[in-house]
Amino acid sequence: MSSLLEGASEDQLLAKFTCAQEHDIGSMIRNIPPAQPSRMRRESFRSSLGLLDILPAELLLLTLNLVDFQTLSRLSGVSLKGKAVVETLATYVDVIRHAPTILTALGRTRLLYHHPAVLLRRALRSGKCVSCFCFGAFLFLPTCERVCFECLHENHSLRMTTINVAKQCFQLTERQLKRIPIIIKQVKQLAIEVHGTLENLPEPERPRACSAEKEVKKFWLFKRFREAPLEPPGCDMSQLPGKSNLVEDDFGGVATIRFPYLTDVGAD
Ligand SMILES: [Zn+2]
Repeated sequence: MSSLLEGASEDQLLAKFTCAQEHDIGSMIRNIPPAQPSRMRRESFRSSLGLLDILPAELLLLTLNLVDFQTLSRLSGVSLKGKAVVETLATYVDVIRHAPTILTALGRTRLLYHHPAVLLRRALRSGKCVSCFCFGAFLFLPTCERVCFECLHENHSLRMTTINVAKQCFQLTERQLKRIPIIIKQVKQLAIEVHGTLENLPEPERPRACSAEKEVKKFWLFKRFREAPLEPPGCDMSQLPGKSNLVEDDFGGVATIRFPYLTDVGAD
């Protein structure tokens, strides 16, 4: 064995002794190309940012951290100075260097302009899952929050669903649902706002022994959606008593993408 490893590089050793098989849920976003930084290298001392030129540099950088990546991208296309300013932002540097596929995913799902750039950088630099507070290796795109594999599976408040299911499960209208993305947590919050409490809703019809499999699945799905926690449980939900009745729907892992964790030492 030692002769096999002799002269092997650190990367070869790691590849030999680690399992590269990825665990993920069927509908996760995979295999998308990374966003490419501009290759243009020209500079000009006379270039301008128009009205933004009156801001002191510190204030300009502070302001740009609060806007979204779509705005930053447009600003970098305005002038050579705009490009130079955007490319010196720590937020831009971190994300384009370590998580460029996230920008592609947010762009393709038309979510790029929903999240301030600083929020994406914060998620990149915090390893905590928003639900159980342990390490999370994925980004949930609609809320720009870090999540872990277990919580994506167990915490139904992190599920996306269809307008029809949301309407039926929480007795909401299409018009009411237009105000929010169809994430169970937000649909449930909206339902409480509309109905006062979920106890005012009729119970989902309990399936009988002769009910079709589709009906049984629908009952348990509605039940789990209504029970989904609005606050982070702060623990591994698979360990909670009485929560073993997982319901698989077609949307587990939707709008989620693998996400590196960036520390001062480097990206994990
Ligand atoms: Zn978690």
